Amino acid sequence: MTNRVLMIGLDGATFRLLRPLCEMGVLPFLASMMRGGVVADLMSTNNPLTPPAWTSMTTGRSPEVHGIYDFLRPAYLDDGSVYLKVNDRRDNRAETIFSIANRNKLRATALNFYGHSPAPQIDGYVVSGFVPWKHLRHGMHPPELFDKLKASKNFDYRDLGMDIGEEKKCITGIKADEHADWIELQNVRDAAWTEVTCRMMQDDRTELTAVVLDGPDKLQHLFYRYVDPDCYPGAPGPETEALKTLCIDFYRRMDGNIRRLVAAAGPDTNVLVTSDHGFGPTTEIVYINEWLSQNGYLVWSKNSVADTKGSLTADKIKDHLGMIDWRKSVAFCPTPSSNGIYLKPDMGNGIGVKPDDYLETVLTMRKQLLDFRDPRDGKPVFLDATLNKLRGKSFVEPCPDITLKLRDGGFVSILAQDQVVVQRELADGTHNPAGIFVGFGPMFRSGVSLDALNILDMAPLMLTLLGVPVPRDLEGRLPTEALDDGISATTGGFTMATVDTDHEEVSEEDREALLRQMKQLGYMD
Ligand SMILES: [Zn+2]
Repeated sequence: MTNRVLMIGLDGATFRLLRPLCEMGVLPFLASMMRGGVVADLMSTNNPLTPPAWTSMTTGRSPEVHGIYDFLRPAYLDDGSVYLKVNDRRDNRAETIFSIANRNKLRATALNFYGHSPAPQIDGYVVSGFVPWKHLRHGMHPPELFDKLKASKNFDYRDLGMDIGEEKKCITGIKADEHADWIELQNVRDAAWTEVTCRMMQDDRTELTAVVLDGPDKLQHLFYRYVDPDCYPGAPGPETEALKTLCIDFYRRMDGNIRRLVAAAGPDTNVLVTSDHGFGPTTEIVYINEWLSQNGYLVWSKNSVADTKGSLTADKIKDHLGMIDWRKSVAFCPTPSSNGIYLKPDMGNGIGVKPDDYLETVLTMRKQLLDFRDPRDGKPVFLDATLNKLRGKSFVEPCPDITLKLRDGGFVSILAQDQVVVQRELADGTHNPAGIFVGFGPMFRSGVSLDALNILDMAPLMLTLLGVPVPRDLEGRLPTEALDDGISATTGGFTMATVDTDHEEVSEEDREALLRQMKQLGYMD
């Protein structure tokens, strides 16, 4: 018998929301899987962000190894200024479980993962996530898959792409009367991915199938406070109630999607329900570039303007780094999602940090960050400031020099402001380290709740469930406590390094679509 695995990725799913929803009867199918399977928190990457986290889930390697830290990475021009490049599949240096399965004569299907475009040539099927629908063809493998999906009557293939018809809204923000349409768009997209996955499992099932439903992350970025029973959603009234109802309905449909996927996979399949990171409320805004400015590392350019909530115009999204005077700045944060500070290397033009001064500069900055107190309450704002060990060796490595952990778990703001910390009027949703793991199927134990697992453990787990030896350079461990007695890992060989020399930059259209998507999710404020 062939061991089959289905991984259902629920982007941003957290037990903090799912458990109360289970108790309310909104998630009957997921609740039955949790009762009949194994449940644990799943700890995310150091910066709990979609691109590094899914890449770690599917490679079993940390960001320092695979090289994906964020959606974007900064690049430096000769005049000392900085621009942003888009990370794509060619920036991932680690081998995926899809490729490892292939080398062990098993086929694989990977649907809606960040950073699978241009599509890898695996034996099986790939549809990349985070690709504008006009460019979906490049994110699909084999090439004939595009025409097959385009011809489907059950869904509109454009719903698999990013930013469908929503582009202008991302810049102006979503108005209250558009909330229902926005939530419905997530319902439609998750249903389309579910349909594609079920059809592929029915038509030509591969041993490993993995799909990401990204609706939970999108919904929670905008409407978290309407779902978390511990959050104040805003003034009571019919609008608040209507939004709550729409959100609950989203989770009801999500449960239906999981039910469909598990049914299509069949009872002999081992199913993992995972998330790349959790979610929680954020109550304040931390203006990190203003902190750098107040501490002498960054100088605002003359045309920078203080953030007055939603003041970012289309031009500034395109070129929001134009607010920084690059001739006078040595450190900066390029994107909120990085939650990181980059030290600008001196490229021989006298602007930035010289290699000999690097260690002292980064250690001094780290101490200043940890010593920083919110003037309002006298308490630390940065709970941690992690150095990247690789940076000392290479200025080319696309990693932040310092990755921050904010006290409310949120992402920083990169905008100008006269204070470093500002209270939010209402709580927003933000990422959290604790994601979810549910294991269900013939090889999993039943009715067991475990201590937290690590996202790096998922690759050894999936390979073992497939009967594939676990390469010895994977960083996680096989969580045998989740499995029936007697199941253990076979270790063998090493992963294959992926070196892709063909590396033209992502098209301007793809880049802009990604920036718009990031703006919409609050990653550009
Ligand atoms: Zn995510």
